[in-house]
Amino acid sequence: RSADRSGFPAVTIDATALRDNLAVVRRLAPRSRIVAVVKANAYGHGLVPVARVFAGADPHGAGDEAGQGVGHEVDPGVGQGVDRSAGQGAGRGVTQDVTLGVARLEEALALREAGIAAPILLLEGVFSAAQLQCAARHRVEIVVHSGEQIHMLEQFTGAYRFTAWLKLDTGMNRLGFRVGELAAARTRLSGCAAVAGMRLMTHLACADEPDSALTRAQIETFGAVVDALGGDALGLDEPGAGAPGAGASRLERSIANSAGLIAWPQTRLEWVRPGLMLYGLSPLAGRSAATLGLRPAMTLSTRLIALHRLAAGETVGYGAIWRAPQPVSIGIAAIGYGDGYPRGMRNGAPVRVDGHEARIVGRVSMDMCAIDVTSVPGVHIGSAVTLWGEGLPAEQVAPHADTITYELVCRITERVKRQWQ
Ligand code: PLP
Repeated sequence: RSADRSGFPAVTIDATALRDNLAVVRRLAPRSRIVAVVKANAYGHGLVPVARVFAGADPHGAGDEAGQGVGHEVDPGVGQGVDRSAGQGAGRGVTQDVTLGVARLEEALALREAGIAAPILLLEGVFSAAQLQCAARHRVEIVVHSGEQIHMLEQFTGAYRFTAWLKLDTGMNRLGFRVGELAAARTRLSGCAAVAGMRLMTHLACADEPDSALTRAQIETFGAVVDALGGDALGLDEPGAGAPGAGASRLERSIANSAGLIAWPQTRLEWVRPGLMLYGLSPLAGRSAATLGLRPAMTLSTRLIALHRLAAGETVGYGAIWRAPQPVSIGIAAIGYGDGYPRGMRNGAPVRVDGHEARIVGRVSMDMCAIDVTSVPGVHIGSAVTLWGEGLPAEQVAPHADTITYELVCRITERVKRQWQ
């Protein structure tokens, strides 16, 4: 255990929870390959260590006894780079079928610089010839969602040949070719010397809503386009059908994010692309992570740095928005919006102090917030405060700041100490 218990505020990341959540994905979609989405600093959990875990390694670099990361020994520019991280994981049953999904090229480069040799998929694709060259140098697979991106591939003169994930817009209306544009895009890409292989993907807008008409329509549209392409005769009502290796010429398909994967089994195709659920957070309103077999990987914690007794009628914090209705004990916790704990946390947001339920009172400031600790037995300066994570699911906290768990975990700032267990 590398956790330094004296650090606060701190984010503690549980590598075992990450592995177990990945195992949940495998159980739900046993015949699918996985794009583990690690964009945005692995949803705030730490890009490189999380990627190492999903690639089958130790978060600190393949369990190197001397504590040196594996990374710098692997030349990221060499196509044959040995994925030591994946190799280390093999013994623990973590396999090498995981592709790492990032949004930006910089994130892909950070992974390669850390020596991670697992396949990487760039979800936004590239936006210049220079970026395309860089993606080639680092063996990054690319999403292709625009004519400009196809043009760049047509102009590419390097020896590297890309795996291109052709993106179809089935109703999200964010990235992707419209249905009527897809066949032409596919034909152009197939004629591209720089493209070695192609996959077809789309992204769901409302997979988290039970019985969403848009989701049904998106799935149907995707299926109709696949049929029209003639690249795959399999119906979309056969979850996991047509697993990899079943036919070299089959167009591999991907629809599911976390919510799709859990709630829409027909989206478990050759590839699934979970993000949120890998971090142990529920993608479905009204379904707790625990009922889905997921465990939160992140716990955000701090300590009380001051304790006061307030008389009835006294206020606390900026704006004096909260007034003690009766005499209360107030603990001041060392965490605020400068750490990523949202200023929007309203009066009444839940926290745990030494394991007991307590509530935020008054406004959250940059470095501190106030907690009503009147009912916490034995409370003292130094008492442990959990903002979310183990013992307090982020799903229960997010609504108090009118936000979602995705945003809660993503916005932890640099100054918060990250520790692994
Ligand atoms: N696929 C794409 C294209 C995405 O943009 C994302 C994240 O937004 C995901 C998959 C993962 O989504 P989730 O975190 O909801 O599982």
